[in-house]
Amino acid sequence: MNFYILTLFPEMVMDGLRTSIIGRAAETGLLHLEAINIRDYSDNKHHKVDDYPYGGGAGMLMQAQPVYGAYQSVIERIGRKPRCIYATPQGRAFTQKDAKDFAQEPDLILLCGHYEGIDERVLEEVATDYISIGDYVLTGGELPAMVMVDAISRMVPGVLGNQESGSFESFEGNLLEYPQYSRPEEWHGKKVPDVLLSGHHKNIETWRRQQSILRTKERRPDLLAQAGLTAKEQEWLKGV
Ligand code: SAM
Repeated sequence: MNFYILTLFPEMVMDGLRTSIIGRAAETGLLHLEAINIRDYSDNKHHKVDDYPYGGGAGMLMQAQPVYGAYQSVIERIGRKPRCIYATPQGRAFTQKDAKDFAQEPDLILLCGHYEGIDERVLEEVATDYISIGDYVLTGGELPAMVMVDAISRMVPGVLGNQESGSFESFEGNLLEYPQYSRPEEWHGKKVPDVLLSGHHKNIETWRRQQSILRTKERRPDLLAQAGLTAKEQEWLKGV
């Protein structure tokens, strides 16, 4: 899968994505990660990319022309018009379902704003999706773009090793993942639950499912309502 990240800070994005699992997937060619410097497309002789907002108000705004130039450079090179995500606190909240859906795309453009944001006119022409990573305001779209590239890449077949990709994860079926333990069997006086040492796969599965339900109830009760618990599970939950 090919990611094209339009940004004023390409090193920040690439440095963050070059490590660990995502970096390895890029090295093996499963992912193509490319940061395009918007400043390179400014037609201003000082490579200026921002200006004051019309109507007054604090801060500077990224101008339409350099953003459009950077976007067009990708479109012309690849000969297609992929979806273009504008990272913005004004967008809908990014979810695991989005990560899975975007991972089906062969190419994706991510547009990072800075300062007070980007001139609305160019957004109208290039952005297909307005996405937020949470209800808070960051200084730029670079961290949100990195968050999204990471979460989407994990869903691209082959990026996670077989061991990792086969396991249940939080948000599947609207449940959080169950607690997990590794060696040693006892640490700080706390023992690993007996069932996990029993080798009894059916019991382990039941225990994990119940723990997922309990954890979701405790930490994300908003999700539990959509988790599709069986009548038996709902009855069990009333009793605990
Ligand atoms: N003036 C804008 C507003 O009030 O909506 C905020 C601009 S913010 C300081 C600068 C850039 O950071 C935005 O253009 C966007 O790309 C990015 N950004 C900030 N918070 C974000 C969030 N929660 N999710 C995604 N992108 C965000």
